[in-house]
This record gives sequence, structure tokens and C-alpha cells, in this order.
Amino acid sequence: MAELPARADVVVVGAGIAGVVTAYYLARSHVNVILVDRYGPAAEASGGNAGMIGESGGDPATTMQLQRQSVALYEELARVTGEDFELVMDGRLRLAITEDEVRSFESLVQRSQHEGVEGHMLLGADIQRHEPALSDRVLGAAWFPRDGKVHPIKATNAFSRAAAARGAVVAEGVRVIGLLTANGQVTGIMTDLGEVRASEVILATGAWTPVLAATAGVHVPVFPGKGHMLATEPLPPVTGRVLRAEKLGTRQLANGEMLVGSEVEHVGYDKSVNERTIELYLRFMQDLVPALEGARVVRSWGCLRPMSIDQLPIVGSVPGVGGLHLITGYGRSGMGLAPASAKALVDTLLSDRADLDLSPYALGRFADV
Ligand SMILES: Cc1cc2nc3c(=O)[nH]c(=O)nc-3n(C[C@H](O)[C@H](O)[C@H](O)COP(=O)(O)OP(=O)(O)OC[C@H]3O[C@@H](n4cnc5c(N)ncnc54)[C@H](O)[C@@H]3O)c2cc1C
Repeated sequence: MAELPARADVVVVGAGIAGVVTAYYLARSHVNVILVDRYGPAAEASGGNAGMIGESGGDPATTMQLQRQSVALYEELARVTGEDFELVMDGRLRLAITEDEVRSFESLVQRSQHEGVEGHMLLGADIQRHEPALSDRVLGAAWFPRDGKVHPIKATNAFSRAAAARGAVVAEGVRVIGLLTANGQVTGIMTDLGEVRASEVILATGAWTPVLAATAGVHVPVFPGKGHMLATEPLPPVTGRVLRAEKLGTRQLANGEMLVGSEVEHVGYDKSVNERTIELYLRFMQDLVPALEGARVVRSWGCLRPMSIDQLPIVGSVPGVGGLHLITGYGRSGMGLAPASAKALVDTLLSDRADLDLSPYALGRFADV
């Protein structure tokens, strides 16, 4: 990249899905914005995830508006940029493999329907009639036709390119060392290439957000939640749908590779791959999706989700440090949640009004923690 600008109106730190969408909506509103990442877009969780999105992604009534609107924003981005990031809304099956899970998914379907989410339960032979890729190990499946998927690396890069096309400076390979503050107000960032002055700084630094926030004396209750993922060799078409069991899910990329992952492991900032875990993941999924029998694993990796202690995102201003804002804590669902909350954050910053109410996601809810 060319020289790092010495100042901007807004600096966004972190080019995962949260940061790139934030930078895009700022640039679209003609704000002078720099998006800084120590590596580049999609370098961490936003590049290593399964890309499952849609309105049934979380529990109904908590984050559903974010999930629903995020899909609309992906659709809009594909339309306005013409970029193909493998957005396919062919539905999601949540797979029950125990009687307890059948009951739990039946109740999920009921609660979802109550919130206006289209979905119904499939049992017995209806499961394979609906999705021939599934084995009879699946005892029940909650079917959500309006869910789908993106290619996470392509989608994150598409937002980053769209931000740059609208004037954002995307500074790759720049590590932020700390926040600069004076008199209770943020004044910029210190990087390994020098200072960037700005009166507004947005931390979109995923699992590393607590580290940078601490340099301004701010405690952010986010911790890393590791996930293992694997990609198989390209297979003939298996299904266009997202298949998600309670523990693990799978989906097929356009090139035929099947992605399989992932449980949450609490092992700090360790991203190393445990080959035994990869083996067990593949075996587990082969039981449910016979087309995976004999498939060779061509890639495997570990990456870190930004988990908040109450499992909800943290989006908004930081009380006590003027000009400092957070967009993080997306845990297992950042691809599905970040776009709408990033847009709402930008709307709130620029006009104090947003279509979505971000108050449930304020950092202030942890004041007593
Ligand atoms: C295995 C796995 C599967 C998943 N599957 C799904 C799924 O199917 N659907 C879904 O919705 N979600 C899924 N997720 C969750 C999703 O990946 C995350 O919630 C989301 O990517 C978080 O995005 P982010 O932008 O907040 O953080 P990240 O993508 O981690 O981005 C943070 C960025 O900040 C940068 N950064 C950090 N510190 C600094 C610094 N000091 N200086 C400069 N840059 C810095 C990093 O380089 C990084 O690029 C999954 C996660 C995992 C691990």
C-alpha cells in the first residue's frame, strides 16, 4: 500500500466482515475513512467460517432483525456491484439426531413461526424426500427455506472492494498498537507505521478487541472461541442447502468443496489444528451425509470467533471515551449479523437515527460485570 494517511475523519480497525461493511457504509456517505488491518480483508474469522446466513441463524426474537436485514444487504451488494460471492438462499436444515434434539427443534420452529420466520419440521421419510443427501441417522429436521449462505472470503472482500471503490483507504499490513486519547476523547491510533489522527475510531477487531480497547482503559467482555474447519476435495453436487446439526454443520462451495465445522473450544488465542478433531468432524458428518464417505480433506484450519459473555453482539459507542465505538462480539453468527448492525452503527453515527434499534447491543449492559 502507498503511504499511510496521517489523518482521517474515521478510522475503522479490522477488515473482517464487521469492519469492511462499516467502512463501506461510511464511504458510501462520503465520509473520509481509513480501514486498517494488520493483514488484509478476511484474514481471521471472517475468512475461516462456513458462511451460513439467514433469519433462523440465532434464537428468534433476539437478533432476528439483524439476520433478516443482513441478507437484504448482501443481496443489495451483489446487485449494485455485480460481484459473485456465492450468495445462495436455498434454505437451511437443522438436523436432529437425538429425540431430545427433535423436541428442541420442534419448539424452535414454533417460536420462529411466532416471529414470522418461515419454517417447519420434517420427520421420518419426509426428511429424505425433502433432502436426499441426508441419511436415516437424521431423526428430524427443522426446515428454514429463507436461509442460505455466502462464500465468506469472497463476501468480505466484495464489501472491502466496494468500500475502496467509494473512496475508503484500505490499509493492509498495518498493525494497530494502541489507541490515542486525550481528555476522555479518542484522537487517533498508533500503528507500526506511525500515527493516524482521527476524532472517531471504530474497533472491529474481532477476538482481539479487548487487547486494543484496553489501551484506552476500556474493558470489553469478549473472548476467543476457537473453531476447527475442514474443506474436502471438490465433490459432485451434494446439496445447495445448508445442513446444520447441533454440533457441526456442512455446506458446499460453488467449486464443489464441502466445508465442515465447528464447535466452540475455549483455548485462548491458540489457532493450531488438531488432526484428530478434523478426523472426528469428518466422520460425524459422513454419518449424516453419505456423499462425504471417502472424501479427502484438502484443507483444515482453526480460527477464533469473538465471543461476548452474553452471546450477543456489542455495537455502539464506548461510554467515557468520546469518539470510540465498538462493533464486535458476534460469536458464531458474525456473517449473518454484522452487515445490518454495521449499517445501523453508521446511520447512528451520521444522523443519530437507524432503522434498527442497537440499544440491546450497547457495551453499557455490562456496566456491573
Ligand atoms: C469455524 C467457524 C465457523 C463459523 N461459521 C459461521 C457461519 O456459518 N455463519 C456465521 O454467521 N458466522 C460464522 N462464524 C462466526 C464468524 O466467522 C464471526 O462471527 C465473524 O467472522 C466475526 O467477524 P469480525 O469482523 O468481528 O472479526 P474477524 O473476522 O476476526 O476480523 C477481525 C480483524 O481485525 C484485525 N485485527 C485484529 N487486531 C488488529 C490490530 N491490532 N491491528 C490491525 N488489525 C487487527 C484482524 O487481522 C482481523 O482481520 C464462524 C466462526 C468460526 C470460527
